[in-house]
Amino acid sequence: MKKGAIKRVCVYCGSRSGARPVYLEAARAMGRALAGAGMGVVYGGASVGLMGALADAALRAGGEVIGVMPRTLTEREIAHPGLTQLHVVETMHARKAQMEALADAFIAMPGGLGTLDELFEILTWAQLGLHAKPCGLLDTGGYYARLIGFLDGAVREGFVSTEHRRMLAVDASPCALLEALQRHRPPAGKRWLARSQI
Ligand code: AMP
Repeated sequence: MKKGAIKRVCVYCGSRSGARPVYLEAARAMGRALAGAGMGVVYGGASVGLMGALADAALRAGGEVIGVMPRTLTEREIAHPGLTQLHVVETMHARKAQMEALADAFIAMPGGLGTLDELFEILTWAQLGLHAKPCGLLDTGGYYARLIGFLDGAVREGFVSTEHRRMLAVDASPCALLEALQRHRPPAGKRWLARSQI
């Protein structure tokens, strides 16, 4: 990608804080790194867990933070009150589509089932040629080591192509991961679906 082409990064991360302090620290570091790089944050809009820590840190560092939350979740996840913008949408699907449309790149940080679902959906959209935006995994404290090993095994077993495995940049450092996303070259694959078919 051309330098400066990433204006906003969508960050998927846990609505919980995780069992070790290193996760909250990483969410804050990611928020500061994005604001410091002049990149806005797009995320799920919550004030809880890693999601809240990421947003707080980016806002405190003067960054733009846009939340996207389904109406039904605004009570359970507690919408962050201080965001640059909060988009309230009707469904989980609308949330994912809106987050994708607003961002130029995607990062998954440690998180639970929601984070994994979001990461794999955005990777499969890239695999289908629906977008050509860079995707990265922040491997804090080795949280994703087994997932990375699994994906490498899926390549060896012939279910994932090397080219598609390479779509996912991995680093433990927020700044190094942002740099890797800026170097990204999308795979020259076939476009299997139109955006209207998502
Ligand atoms: P979690 O990683 O499970 O803590 O969830 C992180 C975020 O993903 C939260 O904002 C959840 O609401 C959201 N989430 C959970 N399940 C889904 C889903 N199926 N599709 C989209 N977002 C989800």
